[in-house]
This record gives sequence, structure tokens and C-alpha cells, in this order.
Amino acid sequence: MNITRRALLAGTAALPLVASAQTASGVGRRTMNHVKDHITRLVDQHRDGVAPIVSLGDPVLRQPADPFDGQVDDKLLAEFIELMQRTMRAAPGVGLAAPQIGVPVRIAVLEDPATVSDEVAEARHRYPLEFFAAINPDYRPNGHKRRGFYEGCLSMPGYTGVVNRPYSVHATYTDPTGHPHHKTFTGWQARIVQHETDHLRGTVYVDKLEPRSLSTTENYLDNWNDPIPTRAAQALRFHLD
Ligand code: ZN
Repeated sequence: MNITRRALLAGTAALPLVASAQTASGVGRRTMNHVKDHITRLVDQHRDGVAPIVSLGDPVLRQPADPFDGQVDDKLLAEFIELMQRTMRAAPGVGLAAPQIGVPVRIAVLEDPATVSDEVAEARHRYPLEFFAAINPDYRPNGHKRRGFYEGCLSMPGYTGVVNRPYSVHATYTDPTGHPHHKTFTGWQARIVQHETDHLRGTVYVDKLEPRSLSTTENYLDNWNDPIPTRAAQALRFHLD
């Protein structure tokens, strides 16, 4: 928490978003202005810098984000995505959803340099994912195969837990130029796609994790940092797909 963050929150509270809804279209217009104002302010405040990441407990992480439907023009959208990219890389993280910097809109950025050992890469099927921005992403499982691994979230630093997830997903999203994409992701890339898309639905990985696996990052590194968490599942007694 810092002064910038408090100022941001104060600014949010001052917007005419709250209550006094008269018509559905009025609500829609206010929501649209809210997203636009929020993006404009963030881009202005953090030009060439990074945006503050909001933590668990902030309601923005728990509401379904609005679809992106042109609330900002192409130039501002590109600047916002660059801000998200800088913020993700500085964290560092392999994905960032717009609500994580306080904006309830369905935009996420993903990128995984996969700087892990060959052994870990092979065990987790974790291979480099080139940077891309996903607008209005969605996914559905591809087949029934599931795998469980420890994952973490920039909005809940210091903790990690095992989430059993579909091994492969079919994803749809639009890129910033408006092109629709249908892609199949597998392994760790599918995990990142699911984690970030879940954020846009108001879902955080703690909703899906095996509760008995939850660990501080420190204890995880000391005790359970195996390529596949079989030993942790047995010792801590949680289900591992
Ligand atoms: Zn996250």
C-alpha cells in the first residue's frame, strides 16, 4: 500500500459508478466510462513504469470483468497492454489479468520464458510461451486428462498451492487488432491460460486448490520443490491428478 494506491482508490470512489442506477443503458454507460477512465488514469500515471498489483481481498478480483467492447480506442488499448506487459515482467509473472491492476475488463497478457531445468520442463510440460494479449478469452477442457501442480498468484504473494486442472484446453480470444483466435493449449501453457481466464471470471486459484497443499513459498522451496508433487501429496495428504 502506498500513496499512489490510496489516491487510485479515492479516485475510484469518486466516480459516479455507485448506485443511483436508473436504466440499464445508463448503467452500461457508467460501466463503460468507469473502465475507460480507469485505463486512462493508469496509463497516464505509470507511463514507462509499472502499475500496482491489487491483492486478494480487493473486490475487483471477485467480480466478473466486463467484456472489452471498445471502451478505449486502439492507441490507448495498446498503451494499456504495454503497461500490463511491463507490470507482468517486473513482478515477475507469467500472466496478468486486468483486474489484477484494478480494471474490471476482460483483458489478460501471458508470456512464459520457461526458465526451468530440462527435468522440470519435461515433468511439467512447461515450454516457452511467446507473449500475447488475450481479449475476451474463454476456454473449455480438451479431453478428460487432468494434472496437478503447485501454482501461485501475483495477487497472493508468498503462497503456493496445488491446483488440479485440465491438462489441455481449447481457448478462444481476440487479439488487439480484432482478429479472433481458436487455439489448443496443453501442459503449463494450458495452466496459465486457465489461471488468467479464471481471474476474468472473478475466480482466484485458491478457489480451486487442494486446501491441504497450501504452503508458504518458503516452505514449498524447503520441502516440496519436486518436478511433480507426488511426495507432497502423500506427506500432506491431498489429492493429485
Ligand atoms: Zn493470478
